[in-house]
Amino acid sequence: MNPSIRSLIAWLTSITRPVHKPLFVSALLRIINLSLDIVLFGLAGGGVMALVTSSGSVGPLLGWLVLVSLLKAFAYYLEQFSGHYVAFKALELLRTYVFAKLWPKAPGIITHARSGDILASLTRDVDRIEVFYAHTFAPLVAAYVVSPLAVIIAGITCGADLVWGAALALALSLFVVPVIGTRDALAATRSTLERRRDLAHHVTDSVFGKAEVVGYGRQELRLAEMEEVGEQISATSARARRVVAVRRGANVVLLAATCLTIVLAGAGHSPVVVAALAAGALRLYEGPRGVEDAVGYLDHSFASARRLWEISHAPELVSDGPDTYTGRAPAVSFHNVSYAYRTEGGERAGFALDSVSIEAPAGAHTVIVGPSGSGKSTTIQLLARYDDPDEGTITLDGVPVNRFTLDSLRTSVAIVSQKNQLLASSIADNLRLARPEATDEELMEALALAGMTKDIGAMPEGLATHVGMGANRLSGGQAQRVCLARALLMDPAVLVLDEFTANLNSELEQEIRANIAAAFPSVTIIEVTHRLDSVRGADRIVMLDRGRVVAEGTPADIEAGSGSLSAFFHENV
Ligand code: ADP
Ligand code: MG
Repeated sequence: MNPSIRSLIAWLTSITRPVHKPLFVSALLRIINLSLDIVLFGLAGGGVMALVTSSGSVGPLLGWLVLVSLLKAFAYYLEQFSGHYVAFKALELLRTYVFAKLWPKAPGIITHARSGDILASLTRDVDRIEVFYAHTFAPLVAAYVVSPLAVIIAGITCGADLVWGAALALALSLFVVPVIGTRDALAATRSTLERRRDLAHHVTDSVFGKAEVVGYGRQELRLAEMEEVGEQISATSARARRVVAVRRGANVVLLAATCLTIVLAGAGHSPVVVAALAAGALRLYEGPRGVEDAVGYLDHSFASARRLWEISHAPELVSDGPDTYTGRAPAVSFHNVSYAYRTEGGERAGFALDSVSIEAPAGAHTVIVGPSGSGKSTTIQLLARYDDPDEGTITLDGVPVNRFTLDSLRTSVAIVSQKNQLLASSIADNLRLARPEATDEELMEALALAGMTKDIGAMPEGLATHVGMGANRLSGGQAQRVCLARALLMDPAVLVLDEFTANLNSELEQEIRANIAAAFPSVTIIEVTHRLDSVRGADRIVMLDRGRVVAEGTPADIEAGSGSLSAFFHENV
């Protein structure tokens, strides 16, 4: 998985096709702007020489200068306008593409990614590629068109002997300088970006694991490690900056050489022409300077493009089925389901589920209990096809779940997961992920069902309240109830609750259960729990241990087998 630069560009341009026309317009405007720039300087240089040698007059010269300046200002304005239009539009296209690509894989990626900062790093990568559209294409095109054309026109109109030195210097600047240290700069940039990501991981791990860090007295060690990564970052980024400095220096030397050769070759020519050419040459290197900057941005853009390409082209864990699921309150069955997580290398770790069979009757409340690590979360994630089992089948009313489109399946099977997954945005935004067209009233209704009415009432900004990174501005219980409200907004056929009572007091829990029973009387509920209270009201109990079903039945069955529910619970969970 290592695309060539050419295939990366082909891939990017296929995404951003709609901005190509405005992009060409902005390149054209840049060409006009750069040309007028050279003309303006030439005019000023030649004009002043004409005044000095008293072969011209001030009036017309000033007139021309004003006219060209105004035209240039206008072209500059239009160039900036179109350039920014292109950049923002490209940003929108890239974001939409990447998130659309990521969306079907998200559960898998989020459960497998380290530290879960994938959204943040994706956004940064997209921003870096946007720079490609904003600051590279137009400057590159303009540089390779305007500067050579200016030299050729000067050669034709004023004499080739005047510009041969300029032509040589310009050729070096356009074709040799940009490739100085290319490979080194790209490698340095790539490793800088990687080390920065390591640093971000290190910091998030320290923050989220602060209890462990402090508990084991590792503060000094973590700080020292962080410092070391920081030093590596400044060392590698210095390598990239050195290349930039060398290129800049080379261009300044070539600029000086250009002006010098024009003046030296100017002996037999009119001083006005020589002055005009030498002055114009001062702006000849605006093109190459744009190339210098652009090449610097390109390193970053390509390193980021490569990462996005890899994510977008990562194999899908699961593929769409042909049918749209439209059922209501189905019976859910697992038939001899076995599943092993893959390691990074792709081998199977030990079995997380070993020939698990579960019947969750239609419209009933089935509870899965078992010690930590027994496979409860894995079971329910397979139901929503975060991945497919290695063996066995999972069905809704007898139809295997892989017959359905992922979209219809995942909007019908709503999981309120153990780790709440809220985006760093407002409560309303998070809820509308489930139903984008929902009105504020509908959002409030869903929140009311989830027992959040009082909490929302106490927030000055109400629905617009920002939940913060990792929902850190909400309490654990609030975050979980927002997730529940989001699931309820989908009007699910199957509601799956993973340890959803962990952060709730039992009074609130009772209230929410009553709300759900009233508003969704027939929904099939599958609940994973550690709480005895939650088991009592269930229609069916399934007990997992080390990936196997070890007991199953109605609460009455279980009681008959173990003497009492609480004896069963205390022995096993
Ligand atoms: P539970 O929800 O009952 O606590 P899980 O279903 O989360 O249990 O985990 C079952 C087993 O699978 C455990 O041994 C756990 O370590 C392993 N496991 C869970 N998630 C992953 C993962 N993303 N990658 C590898 N192994 C995992
Ligand atoms: Mg779990």
